[in-house]
Amino acid sequence: MSQSMTVTIAEPEFPDAKMHLIRPKQPAVARVVETRLCTKAGKKAAGIVRHIALDVSGSAIAGNFLVGQSFGVLPPGRDEMDKPHALRLYSIASPSFGEDGSGNVVATTVKRTIGEREPETGDEEPDKHELFLGVASNYLCNLNIGDEVKITGPQGKRFLLPIDTSAHDYIFLATGTGIAPFRGMLMELLEGPAGAVRSQIHLIMGCAFTTDLLYDDWLRDLAAKHRNFHYHTAISREMSSPPGAGRDGCRGEYCHHVFARHFAQGFAPLFECGRALIYICGILGMQFGVYQEIARTSAADLYLTIHDDLKSRDPASWSIEDMKRKVHPARRLMVEVY
Ligand code: FAD
Ligand code: NAP
Repeated sequence: MSQSMTVTIAEPEFPDAKMHLIRPKQPAVARVVETRLCTKAGKKAAGIVRHIALDVSGSAIAGNFLVGQSFGVLPPGRDEMDKPHALRLYSIASPSFGEDGSGNVVATTVKRTIGEREPETGDEEPDKHELFLGVASNYLCNLNIGDEVKITGPQGKRFLLPIDTSAHDYIFLATGTGIAPFRGMLMELLEGPAGAVRSQIHLIMGCAFTTDLLYDDWLRDLAAKHRNFHYHTAISREMSSPPGAGRDGCRGEYCHHVFARHFAQGFAPLFECGRALIYICGILGMQFGVYQEIARTSAADLYLTIHDDLKSRDPASWSIEDMKRKVHPARRLMVEVY
C-alpha cells in the first residue's frame, strides 16, 4: 500500500436531514405525475427501469427532504402470511428542490424485479420455477398518471451532499438503479437555482449492457454542457474496455476498474488536494472493489478506516470477509448498497 498523505484538510460538514415525518401507520397519499422508461427509446434493454415522479404536495415530505434520502412505498394487498405488504424503500432521484423547483414533486428510479422463482431456503421446492414478480417494484411500474400511492419518509441521514457544495469535488459510482440519488445530486450541483458549482464531478455508471444505461441521453447532454462534469461508463458484459483494462481477460468492466483506470489521469489531483468526496450506490458488494482501489492510493486514510491487520497487506489479498469486518468508510466516503 502507498504511504499516507500528510496534508491537513478541513473535514466536510453535512446537513441534518429530517427523518420519518410520515410513518407507515399514517402514510401520505401521493399522485403519479410522470412515468417513463429510463433506458433509451427504441432499444430493448435487459432490465425494465422506470422514472416515476410523484406529486407529494400537502404531505409532510413536501419541501422537507434532501437529495440522497429515500422514501417508503406501501404496496396494496397482503403477503403470503396474510399480513399487509411490508414497506419498500426507493431512493429520491430528485434534487432537494424537487422536480418542480419547490419540493412538491419527488421522482425515483424503479427496476421491475422479474425472474423465475428460485428457492431461497432449504425448505423450498427445488424445482419450483414459476414466474417471480416483485411486489412493490411491479406495482409502482404498473401505475398510470393520476394513480395514488401510499408513501412514508423521508429516510436516510448519511448519504447526503455537504453543506458547502462548492468546497468539494465529487466521484459518484453507481450500478443500475443506484444512479437514482446521483441524478438528483447532479441536478442540485449543476442545475440548481444558485447556478452550477465549479467543482469537478465524475460519475461512473455501471450496468451489464450498453442498452441498460439509465438517463444516458440526459447525462451525455449534461457532460456536453458542463466541462466540469465527466461521465464514464462501466459495461460489465460487453467487450467495450481497452485491452488489458477489464476483468477476467478484459471481458468488460465493473465501476472499480474504471475508477482505477482513470485514477492516474483525472482523479488523482482531486484526491491530492483533499477536496474529493466519494459516493457509492447500488448493488450489494460493489463497495469492496472500490475499497481495494482506494486503499492503493496515497489518500486511503481520508476515505477508509483500515484495521492494522490489513494495513500491511496488499489490498488485492483482502477477502470480502476481511473487508466486512476490518474496512469501514471514513467521513469522505458515502456508501449506500443493498
Ligand atoms: P419483493 O416482492 O420484495 O421481492 C424481492 C425479494 O424476493 C428479495 O428479497 C429477493 O431475495 C427475492 N427474490 C428476488 N428474485 C427472486 C426469484 N427469482 N425467486 C425467488 N425470490 C426472489 N430499488 C429500486 O428499484 N430503485 C431504487 O431507487 C431503490 N432504492 C432503494 C433504497 C434503499 C435505501 C433500499 C434499502 C432499497 C432500495 N431499492 C430500490 C430496492 C427496493 O426497496 C426493493 O427491494 C425492490 O424494488 C424490490 O422490491 P419488490 O417489492 O418489487 O420485490
Ligand atoms: P444490476 O443490473 O444487477 O447490476 C448493475 C451492474 O453491477 C452490472 O453491470 C453488474 O455486473 C454489476 N455488478 C455486479 N456485481 C458487482 C460488484 N461486486 N461490483 C461492481 N459491479 C457489480 O443492477 P440493478 O438490478 O439495477 O440493481 C441495483 C441494486 O442497487 C439493487 O440491489 C438495488 O436494490 C440497489 N439500490 C440501492 C439503492 C440505495 O441503496 N439507495 C438505490 C437504488 C438501488 P454483472 O451482472 O455483469 O456481474
